[in-house]
Amino acid sequence: MAKFEEIKNGVIFPVGEKNDAFAKYFSGQSYLDMLVADPDINVSVGNVTFEPGCRNNWHIHHDGYQLLLVTGGEGWYQEAGKAPQFLTAGDVVVIKDGVKHWHGATKDSWFAHIAITAGSTQWCEEVTDESYDKLQNK
Ligand code: MN
Repeated sequence: MAKFEEIKNGVIFPVGEKNDAFAKYFSGQSYLDMLVADPDINVSVGNVTFEPGCRNNWHIHHDGYQLLLVTGGEGWYQEAGKAPQFLTAGDVVVIKDGVKHWHGATKDSWFAHIAITAGSTQWCEEVTDESYDKLQNK
């Protein structure tokens, strides 16, 4: 059984619906509950939940930034050219304008973070199984 299975029922915030809108930019199943999507506010806030093994493609936030507030489970954050960072509840990740990166669950755990995002997102190539499978939990 996967670790933190209870996360699929939501942690603090609802898990939301299957993240069909962004499915083409993810490997595996994710869920999205938009908490703030107000045209008068220049950031969006979403609760993103990843099933075990799920991660998003490499991507870049332009003309803005992204803040990840980890609410549960075990996951990864990696910037291009750098070692992956193992994430658990309470971790905060600051992603600045123009930094290529990806984030997602570990192979054997559910994972959830709040994503606060400003600007536009450029989606790039997927994180291959070959590179993802090499990641080792701390
Ligand atoms: Mn991101």
